[in-house]
Amino acid sequence: MDPLVFPQNFKGEVDTSDQTRSRYSEDTSIFKITPRAVVYPKDVSDLATLIHFVHTRRGELSLTARSAGTDMSGGPLTDSIVVDFLRHFNRVKYVNTEYAVTEPGVYYRDFEKATLAQGVLMPSYTASRDLNTVGGMVANNSAGEKSLTYGKVDRYVKELKVILQDGKEYTLRKLTRAELEAKKSQRDYEGEFYRRVESLIQSHYNAIMAAKPRVTKNSSGYAIWNVWDREADTFDLTQLFVGSQGTLGFVTEITFSLVKPKPASRLLVLFLRGRHFKDLGRIVNQVLESKPESFESYDDKTFNVMLQVFPKLFKRLGGNPFKLARDFLPELKMVLQGGIPKLVLMAEFTATTHDEAEAMAREAEKKVRAQYDVATHVTRDAKEGEKFWTIRRESFKLLRENVRGKHTAPFIDDMVVAPQHLPEFLPELYAILDEYDLIYTVAGHVGDGNFHIIPLMDFSRPDFVEIINNLSERVYTLVGKYHGSITGEHNDGLIRTPYLYKIFSPEVLEVFNEIKDVFDSHRIFNPHKKVDPKPEFLRTAVKRVVTEE
Ligand SMILES: Cc1cc2nc3c(=O)[nH]c(=O)nc-3n(C[C@H](O)[C@H](O)[C@H](O)COP(=O)(O)OP(=O)(O)OC[C@H]3O[C@@H](n4cnc5c(N)ncnc54)[C@H](O)[C@@H]3O)c2cc1C
Repeated sequence: MDPLVFPQNFKGEVDTSDQTRSRYSEDTSIFKITPRAVVYPKDVSDLATLIHFVHTRRGELSLTARSAGTDMSGGPLTDSIVVDFLRHFNRVKYVNTEYAVTEPGVYYRDFEKATLAQGVLMPSYTASRDLNTVGGMVANNSAGEKSLTYGKVDRYVKELKVILQDGKEYTLRKLTRAELEAKKSQRDYEGEFYRRVESLIQSHYNAIMAAKPRVTKNSSGYAIWNVWDREADTFDLTQLFVGSQGTLGFVTEITFSLVKPKPASRLLVLFLRGRHFKDLGRIVNQVLESKPESFESYDDKTFNVMLQVFPKLFKRLGGNPFKLARDFLPELKMVLQGGIPKLVLMAEFTATTHDEAEAMAREAEKKVRAQYDVATHVTRDAKEGEKFWTIRRESFKLLRENVRGKHTAPFIDDMVVAPQHLPEFLPELYAILDEYDLIYTVAGHVGDGNFHIIPLMDFSRPDFVEIINNLSERVYTLVGKYHGSITGEHNDGLIRTPYLYKIFSPEVLEVFNEIKDVFDSHRIFNPHKKVDPKPEFLRTAVKRVVTEE
């Protein structure tokens, strides 16, 4: 292999040390792939330099964007060049009460500080909001606890600056018909990509619209169904880039629209036992009728881990440990009386006053209790609500860090099925899972029918790859049967790209390929994600974790 000699006009840093390459060889997926180099471009012209450089070594090198590296699907992993956006693309450029302009490598937690200073926020934040960047959120079309009401990141992207395969920066935003026609008449690459994408959409319109998963959250495939609004006759290429995992080009600047959050909130918490499982889908639909702003869940295994790491949680929640112990007394009492609840559901009701929020939560509680014999609790104040949110938000992190001898294996970690199908879907799903000798946790956004099932596995067990292949195949077939999505927010990456065919027809998969051809004809951007699947990574690139006893 020729050594990598980067062009002299590249102003950023290049690091090929073993230590750095090892650090960038992992995200939070099951994969480990060591890059040849990690580069830290200083600005847009550096990105152009990298693109031109990779074109000179066509077929040999590629560029994979990386922001905070918290992806669960292998999205930022490559054996070629990692392009880091954290170091230099990290300025919030402008914020007012309606929108904000930011670079992609800004941590969401810093972005939120800047927007909350204006009393507004971008509400599709993740459970990993303290760890990830806004660029990663755009590239994955992320979502979180507020998405039930506020939707995913795609709803808040007003404008994107992207740098494409020709090394030039373009601004994408929603265009009217007249603006689109003007773009299409240009005799340059911009004119060409608008012409080609529009023609693709028009010639496969019915198949594309039928392919859109019938759920409220989807990050799978290219969201080509959101580009052309036939009724309004608008054309918005930002929607193709949101959720495209850096496979079509680099995002260099984002303009987000912002919302004003409601100030008061109360949680209705439902503690479900095993006997309630047959009614789970119906209970969910019943609570949804009361229009909670968020509706989340975590299961008994997550709860168990939480109990094991109580001292650490104390620290994270802060404050007085005696008061916290008192706050958790109802749960501890419940555990002593009847064991750990099988599933905890948290429905959040928000309003302009606390009394209003409480009345909404109480009303929903009354309706559920009238039909189901379920233990419930309405939180007294925001502080008490925080303890439930901490367990829910931290669940994946707690599991990653705290289960000895086993490791989180996200591979069926993000499926979505419309809540009305849950009464049929969930028993079928659990029947499949029960056939395997697995410990797994279930948490997620139950209101959207979006479940994070995370098996805890010994990665050295001989049937590891077989289980992943087998379960993914069966579970995604089931998801396809209910017109769901194989990923609501974590995206396809290396782990799910081989399964897109489970929910998309050959015609639509071909449209995805053609989209890739329009923007990345030489496959220089983040290969093997979204198109050109490489299932063999499961054999060649899974983390070799040493299991401690
Ligand atoms: C504890 C935990 C909880 C999580 N909870 C959630 C959750 O609630 N909701 C959710 O949606 N996700 C969740 N995730 C997954 C992950 O955190 C999110 O998808 C996050 O938005 C990724 O951001 P990042 O900055 O880490 O991106 P990275 O991991 O660095 O990259 C993600 C993808 O974006 C691409 N990319 C990055 N920067 C750019 C750029 N400038 N231009 C083009 N492409 C780019 C990368 O190539 C990669 O494909 C969770 C992860 C963890 C570890």
